[in-house]
Amino acid sequence: TRPGTRQRVAVLGATGSIGEQTLDVLARHPQRFEVVALSAARQVQRLAQQCAQHRPRWAVISDEHVDALRAALADWAVEGVQVLPASTGLVEVAAAPEVDTVMAAIVGAAGLAPCLAAARAGKRLLLANKEALVVGGEFFISAVCAGGAQLLPIDSEHSAIFQALPEDPSTWGERVDKIVLTASGGPFRQRDPATLGEVTPEQACAHPNWVMGRKISVDSATMMNKALEVIEARYLFGFAPERIEVVIHPQSVVHSMVQYRDRSVVAQLGTPDMRVPIAYGLGWPQRIESGAEALDWTRLGALTFEAPDPQRFPGLWLAWEALQAPPGTTAVLNAANEVAVEAFLQGLLRFDRIHRVNRATLEAYTPTPPASLDDLLALDREARAVAWQQVRRAAQ
Ligand code: NAD
Ligand code: MG
Repeated sequence: TRPGTRQRVAVLGATGSIGEQTLDVLARHPQRFEVVALSAARQVQRLAQQCAQHRPRWAVISDEHVDALRAALADWAVEGVQVLPASTGLVEVAAAPEVDTVMAAIVGAAGLAPCLAAARAGKRLLLANKEALVVGGEFFISAVCAGGAQLLPIDSEHSAIFQALPEDPSTWGERVDKIVLTASGGPFRQRDPATLGEVTPEQACAHPNWVMGRKISVDSATMMNKALEVIEARYLFGFAPERIEVVIHPQSVVHSMVQYRDRSVVAQLGTPDMRVPIAYGLGWPQRIESGAEALDWTRLGALTFEAPDPQRFPGLWLAWEALQAPPGTTAVLNAANEVAVEAFLQGLLRFDRIHRVNRATLEAYTPTPPASLDDLLALDREARAVAWQQVRRAAQ
């Protein structure tokens, strides 16, 4: 950050759950941050409203909604906001010299290109969009290093681990025994696994502890979210897959832990409020007000832990499988899962067959190791086509 000036922030995926909470934190610190770009896929009215409040220089929206957004901005009497089509605008604002910090809060592989652009341009990159890292893998991390970018996790578990790790990454290998990701277990932690074929999208999206976008909510219900997070942790922190563990912790108070060589465990705790990791990423290495409630120890009750059940959550184990397989396999897993979740939300696939589609796609499609963004996008496209075939097969 340039001394004495405000941090200039681009919020990609501004109308989503993470995007809205990011704007909430930013609005608490007008002296510290300036919103310079906002993006959304389709929510024209909400984006125009956000522009009226935050007055960014750029607003990015899917190409087909550009005219509608211009009209909405005129209705809101907002002047001075330049509207860009997403096909070029996302990458443009992510790399713009007028941007210091990029909040990557788009959902899915759609966020990969802007993340890479921000990485190459050396931005502070706040990564909520875990799918981008799961798809990009080592290639993504190389871009971060080459661009001199600062990659900070927003996922609550990874923020917790980052806070519990020593400051100097060169000491991690020798000091740390393993990292332990906590998982809530989602809405079906105690449901009879035999009845998982009947659950509706509404039931799957009703998370006990967090209000989130629909895709990550379904992922939490299958625990594919935790599988993606194991892969995310592997690339973010560089630990071997066998040094990453998952434990179910239904209260979502312990956000994750680091176990050291001497068996000492350092954990990060807090109320389940994404504004805490968002504020941490925005303020790092300082600490800034997030708006979250403090933990109330007098009302907390028991913190419990249990092992994840392979019968109920078979998808979790795909993370380690994909990490042992050749590069590109984590991108195949992500593509399959995005398709399977979409099919489930559309009523085309039973909830308990999401895993079948993921596994069948991994078996049916062997990727060529990717060496460029184009390779990754092609791989993603091909894996999606295979996954849709598997959806049709599983739906019969
Ligand atoms: P969401 O569905 O609420 O919001 C997604 C945002 O991305 C919206 O602004 C939407 O307009 C935009 N978007 C969607 N598809 C797009 C596309 N194809 N191109 C461009 N923009 C697109 O999702 P969310 O819950 O805010 O999650 C965002 C990301 O953060 C996900 O990767 C999720 O895994 C991660 N995350 C979310 C939470 C949470 O609490 N919500 C926690 C941890 C990590
Ligand atoms: Mg998480």
